[in-house]
Amino acid sequence: GLRKALQNDELYLVYQPQRDVRTSEIVGVEALVRWRHPERGLVPPTEFIPLAEETGLIVPIGEWVLETAMAQQVAWLRRGLPPVRVSVNLSARQFLGQDVAQRVAALLAKTGCDPRWLTLEITESVLMQNPAAAAETMARLANMGVQLAIDDFGTGYSSLASLKRFPIHSLKIDRSFVSDLTQDADDAAIVNAVIALAHSMKLNVIAEGVETSEQLAFLHDHGCDQMQGYCFSRPVEPQGIEAMLRSAQAATTAAAA
Ligand code: C2E
Ligand code: MG
Ligand code: MG
Repeated sequence: GLRKALQNDELYLVYQPQRDVRTSEIVGVEALVRWRHPERGLVPPTEFIPLAEETGLIVPIGEWVLETAMAQQVAWLRRGLPPVRVSVNLSARQFLGQDVAQRVAALLAKTGCDPRWLTLEITESVLMQNPAAAAETMARLANMGVQLAIDDFGTGYSSLASLKRFPIHSLKIDRSFVSDLTQDADDAAIVNAVIALAHSMKLNVIAEGVETSEQLAFLHDHGCDQMQGYCFSRPVEPQGIEAMLRSAQAATTAAAA
């Protein structure tokens, strides 16, 4: 089924806004793939991405995701919206493959997407499989002007020595730490430590899976830069993002008048 999904247009992207914790401004969106299976209905990416990895189908799927997200970025701009940073997840196989930088460059050229507004998310566990090779690939991507984020940070085993060598821009604190933040003192301590670590390395830090106003208050008080979560918005279709950006634009214009 997955083999046919691409041909039959069963895949689509939703986008989840990322907000500035202090100002609530939308500073970016994360592209998340969805599969609408003709019989099974919606299949979650946590189910089909691992399968796509195993079968190698992640290569064409990942390519489609990258191109679609880049084209969407350009489409929003053309519709008169302010530039919005688009983050795209790279799978292990995509990132560890030989030609990821070349593929990204080709798609940037094809879509006309400005690399400065593109972030690629790579999970911590993928980076740690071969930190030296990862650093090299990341340097190639960073030299093109693309920003890099470490996804699910805290769940892998990052060596701080490697972290220092990666040309990264952001750390994303894994949802598992955020969800128990206000009940579990250890999780609160971990989140706090990651924020401090990120800031001391001059990195931007984003909390994932923020669901409650208590979690948001904690992140605000501890200086977390950005957040993403159901508390503000679930992932939505492109029109939903456009509506959010337009109402933000209207509010700014009204405030200026
Ligand atoms: P991720 O990159 O860490 O994405 C964040 C996941 O957290 C998304 O799940 C998002 O819908 C979910 N989420 C966001 N806010 C909340 C919240 O407040 N509460 C809860 N409980 N969940 C929240 P999703 O879309 O199911 O994606 C799961 C994972 O699948 C992603 O984790 C990513 O690793 C992978 N994935 C999704 N799309 C792609 C893709 O295009 N390419 C690749 N390689 N992987 C993808
Ligand atoms: Mg992600
Ligand atoms: Mg994550």
